[in-house]
Amino acid sequence: MSKLRLDKYLLYDEINELMHSWQENYPNLITVETIGQSYEGRDVWALTITNKNTGSPDTKPAMYVDANIHAGEVTGSMAALHLAEYLLTTENDKIKKLLDTRTFYILPRINPDGAELYLTTPTLLRSSVRPFPDFRKDEDPAGLHAFDINGDGRIQLMRIRDDQHGAWKISSEDPRAMVERSPLDLEGPFYHIYTEGHLLDAQGNILENARYPFEAVDTKYGLDLNRNFPAGYNPLTPGSGPFPLSEPETRNQVEFINKHSNIGGVLLYHTTGGVLFRPHSTVPDKNFDKTDLAMYKELGNIGTKTTSYPVVCCYGDIWSGVLDDWCFEYKGLFAFTPELWDAVGRAAPEVKKDPYKEPSKEELNQLEIKLLQWNDRELSGQGFTAWHKFDHPQFGSIEIGGWKVKECRQNPPVKFLEQECYKMTQFALGYALSLPVVHIDEIEVTNLENNIYQIEAVVSNHGFMNTNISEQAKKQKAVRQDLVTLNVSETTSLINGDFQVEIGFLEGYSAGQQSRFYRFGKPAKSGKRIKWTIQLTEACSKQISITLKSERGGVKTKTIAL
Ligand SMILES: [Zn+2]
Repeated sequence: MSKLRLDKYLLYDEINELMHSWQENYPNLITVETIGQSYEGRDVWALTITNKNTGSPDTKPAMYVDANIHAGEVTGSMAALHLAEYLLTTENDKIKKLLDTRTFYILPRINPDGAELYLTTPTLLRSSVRPFPDFRKDEDPAGLHAFDINGDGRIQLMRIRDDQHGAWKISSEDPRAMVERSPLDLEGPFYHIYTEGHLLDAQGNILENARYPFEAVDTKYGLDLNRNFPAGYNPLTPGSGPFPLSEPETRNQVEFINKHSNIGGVLLYHTTGGVLFRPHSTVPDKNFDKTDLAMYKELGNIGTKTTSYPVVCCYGDIWSGVLDDWCFEYKGLFAFTPELWDAVGRAAPEVKKDPYKEPSKEELNQLEIKLLQWNDRELSGQGFTAWHKFDHPQFGSIEIGGWKVKECRQNPPVKFLEQECYKMTQFALGYALSLPVVHIDEIEVTNLENNIYQIEAVVSNHGFMNTNISEQAKKQKAVRQDLVTLNVSETTSLINGDFQVEIGFLEGYSAGQQSRFYRFGKPAKSGKRIKWTIQLTEACSKQISITLKSERGGVKTKTIAL
């Protein structure tokens, strides 16, 4: 069986091979299926993981985890695969309980086209490979285009001396760092900093010499799939696409979540920054339902404990049209967007104390120095390409250098990859353990006279969260009430009660912790007692069964003989 390698970032075919080998080796635990195609027609895969012997996946409360909607955030894919492998190969009580009682839907690579381009070429791109705005499919403006001009496999930075116009100077603290030129700086040298590349005319021909002035041309990969969701969608948000869900990748996600009404928890893996983002981008916390905000904080605490990353609310950011907002606003699901990997936090832990603080120019310059020191200490200097002379065909003698973005800043150097995956997996497991899970605790039968029986059932939620998950889900009518059904043979008549009873929602034990101040305050309303009186005829089967169906808390059936 293939094993997940954590010493490299996997390509599309490597992920497929790994997933399918799991399916061969653990047929009782995993199903691998395609949920749709990407823009370029690659299959997008979903893993369904649960112990199939204890019930089919859709009868258990489920955790949804996806990753890599942003092309370069390939750590997310690795962490999602790590979670899958951890579930399949770890033998302990926690994993057994999770596999027996919960389902995991794991979509490790939402945007395979973008990730493939990112991993196999020097190109840096935000998400989809579909050119955007649409006219960029056929035309590229004249100007400086990003290009690996020195052929070292990376697009880095060009440092070009210009004492008149240059906006940057070399830091006095570290010659690798560039700092802003100040009006008080009278003498150079000063520099321009450009993305590594070359100058093209409007027909795409390479110019023979540099012609000033020129524009730095934006990438034609202008889409940002995580701005393409309906919640807070704004066509003016950069990269949000022509209309909500215009892209196959985002439709795949939303359709999958919609189809699986048992999903109660959501984690969307991204990089980078070492924070756990949560909604809402467009609604301040003071307008949040208090119970919902409290649950977001409870779950966030599990995240912070396991990953050490703080929870940050996105309100006031320009971010709109994101998937976590959609999950909460439309479905009432407590979605988080973990930003994995945190070079900044490793180099300068003090900046994590206030994740809402906007750093000043001076602080950013200091941070750059600390990052370079960290790079020397932890990576033997390998994360940064020192500035070195290069004879550019258009600009003449220049220097090229800068951070190795893909393998050091946007994603962890592989020696840190397992740490990053492991702690996210612990968050996902903790979150899954918080999901509601319903039970039929007891069935009592009393023979009232001859063929008349009274049946009483006690049903309850043994989980931490309520079966509706959130108040928002109720408001939005995104979840059905829990339903109890009495199943008897056709000729049995009902004297009292209804065969189907909607019982509202069952609270989780978290609801009993709300009156903490009074310690022995109100217990959670986690159980319901339902009664029926039935009359059997001679031909009746003596078997009855009771089914409790909770969309987000699972489905349970108990059968007894009278
Ligand atoms: Zn991202």
